[in-house]
Order: sequence, then C-alpha cells, then structure tokens
Amino acid sequence: MTGHRDVVIVGAGISGLTVAYYLRRAGVSLTVLDPGDAPGGTMQTLTDGGWMVETGPNSALETTPLFGEMFDGLGITGERLYAEPAADRRYILRDGVLHPLPMSPGAFVRSSLWSVAGKLRLMKEPFVGRATEEETVAQFVRRRLGEEFLDYAINPFVAGVYAGDPAALSVRAAFPKLYALEERYGGLIRGMVRGAGERRKRAEKAKDRARMFSFREGMQTFPMALGRSLGDELRLKCTVTSVERKTRPAGTPEFLVRYRREGDPGSLGAAAVVLAVPAYIAGNFVRPFSESLAAALEGIFYPPVAEVFLGFPASAMGRPLDGFGYLIPAREERKILGTIWSSALFPGRAPAGHVALTTFVGGARQPLVAGLGDNALTEIVASEIRSLMAVHGDPVYAKIIRWEKAIPQYNLGHLALVEEIGGLERRVPGLYLCGNYRGGIAVGDCLASGERLARRIAGEMRNSPFGSPARTAGDGRDQ
Ligand SMILES: Cc1cc2nc3c(=O)[nH]c(=O)nc-3n(C[C@H](O)[C@H](O)[C@H](O)COP(=O)(O)OP(=O)(O)OC[C@H]3O[C@@H](n4cnc5c(N)ncnc54)[C@H](O)[C@@H]3O)c2cc1C
Repeated sequence: MTGHRDVVIVGAGISGLTVAYYLRRAGVSLTVLDPGDAPGGTMQTLTDGGWMVETGPNSALETTPLFGEMFDGLGITGERLYAEPAADRRYILRDGVLHPLPMSPGAFVRSSLWSVAGKLRLMKEPFVGRATEEETVAQFVRRRLGEEFLDYAINPFVAGVYAGDPAALSVRAAFPKLYALEERYGGLIRGMVRGAGERRKRAEKAKDRARMFSFREGMQTFPMALGRSLGDELRLKCTVTSVERKTRPAGTPEFLVRYRREGDPGSLGAAAVVLAVPAYIAGNFVRPFSESLAAALEGIFYPPVAEVFLGFPASAMGRPLDGFGYLIPAREERKILGTIWSSALFPGRAPAGHVALTTFVGGARQPLVAGLGDNALTEIVASEIRSLMAVHGDPVYAKIIRWEKAIPQYNLGHLALVEEIGGLERRVPGLYLCGNYRGGIAVGDCLASGERLARRIAGEMRNSPFGSPARTAGDGRDQ
C-alpha cells in the first residue's frame, strides 16, 4: 500500500526514534519502519526469573540535557535510576591485580596502577606540540602521554567504549573532544582546565562528570516510551528493501520506500527519507545514488562482541562489588575485555541474594573469541572471573548475547567518509543518513545527532514551497 507523509524513517534504534520524536514536535508527519518486534535496536532488555539482561548498553551517561527533556516529554522521568555513587570507581587490571582508577590528583600520585616513571612522563604533556597529520589513538596518546598510559589507561578504555583497537581508531574521529583539546588549547591538561568553563556555559557535561543512569525496568524503557509516543506511526516487523527516488510533476523529489511485512510487500511515499540503520545496511539503500559511498559504508568495520551475563549467589563473591567493574588492557593477555558489576549499579538486576556480572568478549582485539560456542564462552568467562575476583563455584544463571557486528569503528579515514555522506545529502535533497557511525556511538551522542538532524530537516521543509527539502537539486548520482 502506498501512502504519503513528509518523512519515512528507516530504523527504530535510538537514533531513528530521536529523529522521529523531534520531527513530530516540529509538526512533521512521519512513519518509522523497523524489522524488530520492539523498538530500540541494540537497546533491548530481557527479563528472566528475576535476572535483568541488557542486550546493548547497560547504562548511559547523561552528557546532554536532551535526555531530561525527552524523559519529561515521554513521562518516564520517574522511572529513571541513577547508578549507585560507588559506580564512579572503576578498576583496571595490571599484573593480575585490579587497581582502582584514581579519581583525584592525590589518588593519582598514590596509585599503584602506573610506575613513577609513567607518572612523571605526564609532566612533559603540556610541552608536546601538535600533530601534523591524522593520527590513530595509539599514536596520539603515545606522543602526548607515553607508552604506559597508552597500555594501562587508554587501551582498556578503548576496549570498554568501542570494543576497539587504539592502533586502528582515528583519534580525531573516535575521540573528537580529546583531539580538540590539543587542536584548540595546545594540550590535554591545559584544555581540560579551560574546556570545563566552556562546557558549563553550554550546560553540557564531560563524560567523566555526567551521571550514569538506567531505568527501573532497564534501558529499553526509553525506546519503548518513544515507540508508544509514535502510536501507529511506528510500524514494526517491517524490513525496508529499497529506497527509490522519483521526480514529481512539480519538479520536487518523491521517495518510494519499499518494505516487506512478514513476507508481504508494501511501500510508502514521502518527501524525505532518513536512513537510521547500521552503515552496512545503509550502504545497500545508498547504492542507487552513490556506488562509492555504498562501498565505503559497507567497509566500516563492526567487530563481533559477545556479552556473557552470569549470575552467582552473593556468597560466592571473593571481593566486594564496590564499583562499576573492571577493564582489561591488551597487555594482560586475558580472554575477556572487561566486566560490569551490573547488580551493584542498579537494583533489580538479580534475584535477592544473588549478583549479576556482565562480561564482554571479542571486539577488535579478539574477534574470534566472540564466535566460540555458548559452553566454551561460559567456561572461559567463569574461569577468568574466578581468577580475577576470587569467585568460587559455578554460575547459577548464564545468558549469552551475540552481536556479529557490534560497534562501528571510527578508524583512520572515517572523517573523509562522514564528509562523503554530507556530499550525498547535498546532491540528493531529501535523503538523510544518521546512526551511531556518524556523530558518536554513545547513546547521548545518538540523541544529540538525531535532534540536530530533525531540526535541520524541519528547517529545510519549512523553507521549501513544495513541502520537501529545499536544497540544490542535482541528479543525485555519483557519475
Ligand atoms: C554490546 C553493546 C554495548 C553498548 N554499551 C553502551 C553503553 O554502555 N553506553 C552507551 O552509551 N552506548 C553503548 N553502546 C552503543 C549504543 O547502544 C549504540 O551506539 C546505539 O544504541 C545505536 O543506536 P542506533 O539507532 O544508531 O543503531 P541501532 O540500535 O543498531 O538501530 C538500527 C535499527 O535499524 C533497524 N534496521 C536494520 N535493518 C533494517 C531494515 N532493512 N529496514 C528497517 N530497519 C532496519 C534495526 O532493526 C535497528 O532497530 C553499546 C552497544 C553495544 C552493541
């Protein structure tokens, strides 16, 4: 069935839902299509006999005021839970021992995580010059902070955020705020001091200051509420198969989005289309407009990640769960990336008298480990946890979530690809791309880019005499 609306949004992950939320507030008519049974994409919550398992993010950082604005608008502010204050404490493994990451200058000086030589190396940082070409995270950190900080601070941090490899990620693309400290202020230490004042003015929070939250019923509360707010305009179990562009008699473009709903074909017409799907899927829809961009989008590396959720009796723990959990540097040569002490962060994650531990395996560091069978993975994780946390006995509950393509890697050259996306949007008025491969992978980043895109689309629609985006129309093809 063909109908007409201003915008069709392809994908109901948090990016597409945010665009939809803000477009609706701007009075734009829209429909969102997604193959899933529920909205949220990677952000789903499973509950099973008192255990609460997050399939994607276990929590998010309140880095933007958009969170509060959206939660109020959706009526879910009362459902939000802030993490226990102890969640600020994170551990890093060194020589088989979990060391707390120091949170104050005094704790830094006393910390046993880095050697005296490693700490003294930081004093050189303000005197290191700017880079002359695009660098990887590893090159940038080695140059500014030294090898030891790369190995025992940044490497595990990159595993925790991107499941990524610092030697492949572009510092400018993957950590733009870190890069900007050098670019704008000439150094990290200088920039951190001055940047704090500027953020205060913009009501933004640095990631290390922002509060961590989830919801009483888990992270999926958020996309579910967004889905409810869309009513019938969210159509689930609909897999989009193609996006075509036609020219209406008035001369403005009209898109036709074809999809299959449980095997039955359907189509929707719209003045604009937002592709809010992962890059490797967006590539296919972009191909009729740009073969080269399609290939580049499909070439973004998404390493596999397995999430191994294990439940133990609380009495089996050999140490207090007094923090967020721990991250493991590659140099430690373990088979896991790190563990979140899920039940220590928020209540209701494990049955009474039990604890829940979520361990991540694979990533760019060890992609093959993520592909092992369920029993092997459970064995590996249980054995690592036993040795790192002095846990005794076997888990009483296990659930494994697998992401064959988990998180887009902003590797060297990523920014050129992002520019190419902008170029396509200028050549094909009415076609927009968004998602975690473009403006940052954290949930807060997806909100910020989704809201920005919605504002842009609404503005372009207002300025168009035909109700479709008013930009310079080209023929939309590459060649
Ligand atoms: C294991 C894991 C842990 C994470 N942990 C954190 C964390 O702790 N904190 C944090 O801030 N972030 C975390 N993230 C990152 C964050 O969750 C994601 O970046 C974000 O949720 C991505 O949202 P998205 O909408 O861009 O993409 P997605 O969630 O991937 O949504 C894309 C949507 O497109 C749909 N789609 C696919 N094909 C089609 C089609 N043909 N037609 C229509 N729709 C289609 C999919 O069904 C999906 O709903 C984590 C991610 C993963 C994978």
